[in-house]
Amino acid sequence: MKVCLVLTHQCNLGCSYCYAGEKFKSSMSWRTGLESLRLAFSRPGPVEVSFFGGEPMIAFDSLARLTRVAAHWARRAGREIRFSVTTNATILKDKHLRFLKHYKFFVGVSVDGVEEVQDRQRPFVGGRGSGELVWRNLEAICQHLEDFRVLMVVRPDTLALLPAAVEKMYRLGVSKISLLPEAESDWSGSRPLLSQVYHQLARVCFLSMLTEEPMWISPFVELHPGQQNGGSGSCGFGADELAVSPAGNFYPCARLVGPDRRSEVRIGNLEEGLDWERISQLQSQADEQMSSCGSGGCKCLALMPGDQLLQLKNVAMFSEITGQACLAAETALEMVAA
Ligand code: SF4
Repeated sequence: MKVCLVLTHQCNLGCSYCYAGEKFKSSMSWRTGLESLRLAFSRPGPVEVSFFGGEPMIAFDSLARLTRVAAHWARRAGREIRFSVTTNATILKDKHLRFLKHYKFFVGVSVDGVEEVQDRQRPFVGGRGSGELVWRNLEAICQHLEDFRVLMVVRPDTLALLPAAVEKMYRLGVSKISLLPEAESDWSGSRPLLSQVYHQLARVCFLSMLTEEPMWISPFVELHPGQQNGGSGSCGFGADELAVSPAGNFYPCARLVGPDRRSEVRIGNLEEGLDWERISQLQSQADEQMSSCGSGGCKCLALMPGDQLLQLKNVAMFSEITGQACLAAETALEMVAA
């Protein structure tokens, strides 16, 4: 089972599109963290513990203690365990990198583009740009960690500089990138540019497979089983995956936690356990909404706040363009390989 611990609502960045909602000082208690781990270990099969926020590295002490406990329990019980964390890469000193490496963390690093794009999209609270620091830390990650991927939120106004960012990352040593087109944006005037950029990047991705340094770019190739990339993967949706808020409430996915106020998408809590009736009701609701627009992908998309119909339509468009880009790139690959 995969359990995603939202360690804190706090964050030091103020991203223009932040899905986490209002930031406030509310951290997961030690007891809530331990109970969440117990829940993950109560199910048979491999355990995956994932840390999320806000910015989870703000709560590094808690992350480290819970990781040590979970690793100890897994060793004692002979269980397979995997750790992952999603970070904004602003709090990454040597001790953090050593720790993540020691416990073989799969690290998701959020970087939206070249410095100027990162400064604009993901400034610090207060407005100072984060680009210089984040790119410096990305370089350190490339030098110290093996298992990581860059998560790039793509918006209509970042498209033009996207290929430059991918190239810069490739030169730095990044080999896995997930493109996450923002479904809430108005893409009506940007379809041609999105198509052009996706065709270019799919080609880079496919042709790089012929080299010794392949560049894995999602959604053109899958990077991680069950990935939630807004286009192709799907999550366990409460059945074999759930997210726990700092207060101990359960959600089907970490992106639905926000400030922990949407009781309509909660699926239980640590005190009362999982609400199976609610899970099946939300699954049906999501299935119905998604079948009406043919978007496919992760069910959680249908439960996001905001204009869900617009979001699902955009996701259907991303999938269509991805399919076309992959087809063209496959043809190019066959011609080169022939
Ligand atoms: S780093 Fe994440 S939690 Fe922090 S402001 Fe950006 S999107 Fe929100």
